[in-house]
Amino acid sequence: MVDNRTVMESGRCTECGAKETDGFSCYELFGFPLVWEHNDPELYALHFWLVSCYMIQHPSNFTEEAYAQLVRLFIEAYDHGWETSYIQKKNRESVINVEKIANPLPNKERRRMYKFWSMTIEDIYLGGEEKAITNLMKWREQMRSELK
Ligand SMILES: [Zn+2]
Repeated sequence: MVDNRTVMESGRCTECGAKETDGFSCYELFGFPLVWEHNDPELYALHFWLVSCYMIQHPSNFTEEAYAQLVRLFIEAYDHGWETSYIQKKNRESVINVEKIANPLPNKERRRMYKFWSMTIEDIYLGGEEKAITNLMKWREQMRSELK
């Protein structure tokens, strides 16, 4: 997997702080639950939460406006307990194409600032496939409490 989304320094992701684990970078760790969810419809139903949690911890990939929108959508969906299908509909309406929301700066010139999060993709990876749902629910909750 080509890692063009995250930058690791001294074994940690420069944005979310996830530790390089089993030789995998932050972005590579994110690839694991994406594979697991293919075998597990219950996990797949939480796809929005997995992707949002991960994206929110990597703001450099987005324009400022798109990032604010991601955070808003996450908070609204969480606070109102939106169903997956409704989230997907809202998501399609607000974030129409990835090209538009992506940070236009070349990857190397993007400014990455470290922010502390109590859970990162590292925890999802370490918990493994078996605990993926439990951990993802926990990540979602922690994330909500850490967003203003
Ligand atoms: Zn990261």
